[in-house]
Amino acid sequence: MIGDFEYFAPKTVDEAIALLSKYKGEAKIIAGGQSMLVVMKRGLLTTEYLIDIKGIAALDYIKYDEGEGLRIGALTIHRAIEKSPIIQKHFRVLSEMEQNLATIQTRNWGTIGGNLCHGDPAGDPAPVLIALNAKLKLAGSGGERIIEVEEFSKDYLEVALEPDEMLTEIQVPTPLSHTGIACEKLMVMKGDMGVVGAAVSITLSPKDGVCKDARIVLSNCASVPLRARGAEKKLIGKVLNDSLLVEAGEVASTEASPPVDVHGSAEYRQEMVKVFVRRAATKALERAKAA
Ligand SMILES: Cc1cc2nc3c(=O)[nH]c(=O)nc-3n(C[C@H](O)[C@H](O)[C@H](O)COP(=O)(O)OP(=O)(O)OC[C@H]3O[C@@H](n4cnc5c(N)ncnc54)[C@H](O)[C@@H]3O)c2cc1C
Repeated sequence: MIGDFEYFAPKTVDEAIALLSKYKGEAKIIAGGQSMLVVMKRGLLTTEYLIDIKGIAALDYIKYDEGEGLRIGALTIHRAIEKSPIIQKHFRVLSEMEQNLATIQTRNWGTIGGNLCHGDPAGDPAPVLIALNAKLKLAGSGGERIIEVEEFSKDYLEVALEPDEMLTEIQVPTPLSHTGIACEKLMVMKGDMGVVGAAVSITLSPKDGVCKDARIVLSNCASVPLRARGAEKKLIGKVLNDSLLVEAGEVASTEASPPVDVHGSAEYRQEMVKVFVRRAATKALERAKAA
């Protein structure tokens, strides 16, 4: 049962920020409502003031420029990212990630910004965006600031937004040449939240094929999307082969401290981290070699 609240539907970012500033700490933003309505209906969250930002048309866009990279407005729905020809061409891993995120109905209404701001460590976009070294633009009454996606999640369902701030844009740099990126998640059924997931980015040196850089990010393995830095170290500076990718999965599994629920014990999830890191890394390596 949802309690009473005053409802606002600003049409610009400035109007939304003015409302957030006026009702500092007491107002809540709603975008697609795919997460908000679940927590509100369960009585886990009440608010006096609900700011519905879905009508801010200026935050619904996908733009690409090779120098500047990809810019996605916070109100862009998942389905638009999945189907975008620009993203399919230049950032295929984002489109692939979206194909397994929820159902088409949820993807047609839920926004990328809402997903990130919900701060669920099982969410799919954040690990992929961290593997892509992406940043977020936040806007508040004091102006705009940029934050790494990696720094944004603070704890379970807690993100680095001030009470008068909102997310406006996701910024993804063009990957370095000879980079391959892939993601894999374990689902009970297609579109389910991942039991565990892994996003891997590998950059090779064109000279000698040595791994110049690697990013390995896990979902649902901690209270925030987890960078498996020990596993990354296993790969960087080496000519990669299957056994190194297996080792990286094993190290990542020791770095994970996954939750326990009906879908699996912590031990089961740690075993699955080995499998899913290896699978994502194998695909990322193939792509890096072909890039
Ligand atoms: C059936 C179902 C299956 C799902 N499966 C998956 C899945 O497989 N993988 C996955 O990753 N997710 C999954 N989700 C979650 C879903 O993707 C997200 O709930 C959705 O993307 C959130 O976007 P929204 O626009 O609906 O946000 P809302 O629900 O409106 O908001 C979510 C949170 O973000 C805040 N917020 C929203 N936009 C902004 C903004 N621009 N600035 C500041 N704060 C903001 C809100 O205040 C709220 O706290 C699933 C959800 C459902 C209902």
